[in-house]
Amino acid sequence: MTTTEPAPTTSQDDPALAWHKNVCILCSNNCGVEMRIDEREITRVRGNKSHIASKGYTCEKALRLNHYQNAKTRLTSPLKRMEDGTYIELDWDTAIAEVSEALLAVNSTHGPGKIMYYGGGGQGNHLVGTYGAALRGALGITRKSNALAQEKTGEAWVEGRMYGAHTHGEFADAEVSIFLGKNPWHSHGFDETRRVLKEIAADDSRSMVVIDVRRTETADLADYFLQVTPGGDAFLMAAILATLIDEDLLATDWIGENTVGSDAAIAAFSQIPIAEYATKAGVTEDEVRAVTRRIAAAKSVSIYEDLGIEMAPHSTLVSYLQRALSTLVGSYGVPGGMTAHTSLVPIFSYGATGKEPTDPVTGGAIISGLIPCNEIAQGITGDHPERTRALFIESANPVHSLADSALFRQAMRDVDVSVVIDVVMTETALEADYVLPAASQYEKAEITFFSAGFPTNTATMRAPLLPPLEGTLPEAEIHSRLAKEMGFLTDEDLEPLIAAAERGYDEFAAAYMTAAAAKPVLGALGAVVLYETIGRTLPDGMAMAAPMWFSAQQLAMRFPDQVRAAGHAGEDSALGNALFDALVANRDGVAITQHEHGDSFNLLRTPDQKINLDIPEMFAELAGLADSTALRTTDDFPFVLSAGERRSFTANTIMRDPAWRKKDPEGALRLSVGDAQQLGVATGDRIRITTEAGTAVAVAEVNDSMQDGHISLPNGLGLGYSPAGGEPELTGVAPNELTSADWRDPIAGTPWHKHVPARLEVVSP
Ligand code: SF4
Repeated sequence: MTTTEPAPTTSQDDPALAWHKNVCILCSNNCGVEMRIDEREITRVRGNKSHIASKGYTCEKALRLNHYQNAKTRLTSPLKRMEDGTYIELDWDTAIAEVSEALLAVNSTHGPGKIMYYGGGGQGNHLVGTYGAALRGALGITRKSNALAQEKTGEAWVEGRMYGAHTHGEFADAEVSIFLGKNPWHSHGFDETRRVLKEIAADDSRSMVVIDVRRTETADLADYFLQVTPGGDAFLMAAILATLIDEDLLATDWIGENTVGSDAAIAAFSQIPIAEYATKAGVTEDEVRAVTRRIAAAKSVSIYEDLGIEMAPHSTLVSYLQRALSTLVGSYGVPGGMTAHTSLVPIFSYGATGKEPTDPVTGGAIISGLIPCNEIAQGITGDHPERTRALFIESANPVHSLADSALFRQAMRDVDVSVVIDVVMTETALEADYVLPAASQYEKAEITFFSAGFPTNTATMRAPLLPPLEGTLPEAEIHSRLAKEMGFLTDEDLEPLIAAAERGYDEFAAAYMTAAAAKPVLGALGAVVLYETIGRTLPDGMAMAAPMWFSAQQLAMRFPDQVRAAGHAGEDSALGNALFDALVANRDGVAITQHEHGDSFNLLRTPDQKINLDIPEMFAELAGLADSTALRTTDDFPFVLSAGERRSFTANTIMRDPAWRKKDPEGALRLSVGDAQQLGVATGDRIRITTEAGTAVAVAEVNDSMQDGHISLPNGLGLGYSPAGGEPELTGVAPNELTSADWRDPIAGTPWHKHVPARLEVVSP
């Protein structure tokens, strides 16, 4: 080094070289990451080796998070829509006043219960939902929904009936791992996903079973790959269950001890003609028998279903059949098997009974309190007297992500008022009467409630990396201002509670109980009150985390021994306080509960804490398979389109800048080699896709992982982006321009996006 060269820079004297801990927000794994920040740019991302769950693991997506944080289309001012569809900027006080007045007017004009709340968080920001709950409580909003009601309500209905709880597999330890309509190589779903998949593939004593319509990256690692005909999963699962009985492979003693209703289930499964259903599923009887024997011989079996079956025909039935399989081989509550788990905050309720309330307008079952996504727009358009009159949408993009985008756009025009809170001008914000700009997920404290770990469960509270972008506010502040403007919360209410919070959590708890008894809306406003009180006592930037004090108390009250076993000390409220303080202080995540496998049955919420196999609605649908076939195609629409496939550079719609994608920039339509030859199509050609709901043109990709008759489009495409201002440019196909809200599961109302009948025409050979 010469004396004229600058000395090496360190993070002590150059903040741009410091590493800041946070998580990736692009899927439910929320891997721990470390980031470098220069001014407001995320310049480097690497895995956080100290993170309690991910231990340094990331996939390729996390490295490109700056495309989210610094999207060129960030909103920086509240907006109001004019009659001609243009927007004007409002100052925050005016926006809060007008939104408050409009929402109160809906209640006073149409009566309570006509406002609908949609959203409340995505893959990285669930604190938002706690503040949305405060708004719902204060305004008496009972209609709500979110993306879970287009994916997971069928599963929740089944789990409610079978376990009264959510279950998850222990894939890191399972002898047999089954992936059903799931490609974890790209969609992840458990810690260190690709490492675990490679470990299973390299271990001769363990097996991986993949059941999918496409030969996915995970299928390439599998010991057993059953490539089903689209729509064939129910036939295959039924044939596997029938084989268990036919070959006397049931865990009979275990079933007798730990389940109820097994006689009815076994009677139903024993009726299945194995060879015929294998053929309908597109596999051979030998394949069915071989995989069944491997599953039955295993000490532990973990199964992961995902959108490949949850958005396809018989989705709720398949959710039941796969759980019946893991139960009938006795793989619940054993290391490496399925088990229920604790949650810091449950993202769902699992209390289904089969007698769910129904939507007063559409008649659809409201499972776990959520209106089916496919019925939201139908519950607004038209002239039903009970129809929804206002939409409050935050951290969600239903115009793009729900079936039949055109119908949802119409619904947004038909309500008296619509309000959207988001970080960018989404397809949904473009239809809203008011748009309120939120701070990004890296500009405030956040947490997610996805973790389903067992025996150790964890949670990771994040601190802001950056102050909110000028002009934006964290949702906590937006909701607090709305509550005050609407008159639900006053300075007089808050003063004694703030003083009590400064004296300590226990003094605050006593003061809050007294205040809420005298003025019940203060109880309904929970998260907002905690933000304004306990939030002021937390370290800088962490105020939005305050609702987790209540959640920590709840968890410690319900599972004191397991919270203590996870390393938190104290009795009663002191234990909850210790857990909360640990969450707020720790950037690597903390263990929240530590169980033993013997606890698994204690976590069930069924009346006798046994697994219930007797679900008559499922037996009726199973019997109906006899008269049906897997494919739902017609002469007009001979292909099955999977709309919304997860690929290496797709995420949900928060990644809007097309430049984030290193591969597959336009989101190609994949089709088989045989179909391509038949149509005279080559990779790179343009091809028109037509369904009953719409038409679109995509670039073609001839792909040997596809079977004839099956085509697929990725998720997260068709988003508008205008880096230079002006009209947004669209890249790729928005899948929901091609889907119909009527094409859905009869029980859960979840859409059949993975089985959309379609036809193809070559646009440019
Ligand atoms: S997208 Fe990749 S890095 Fe991000 S949370 Fe998921 S698995 Fe982790």
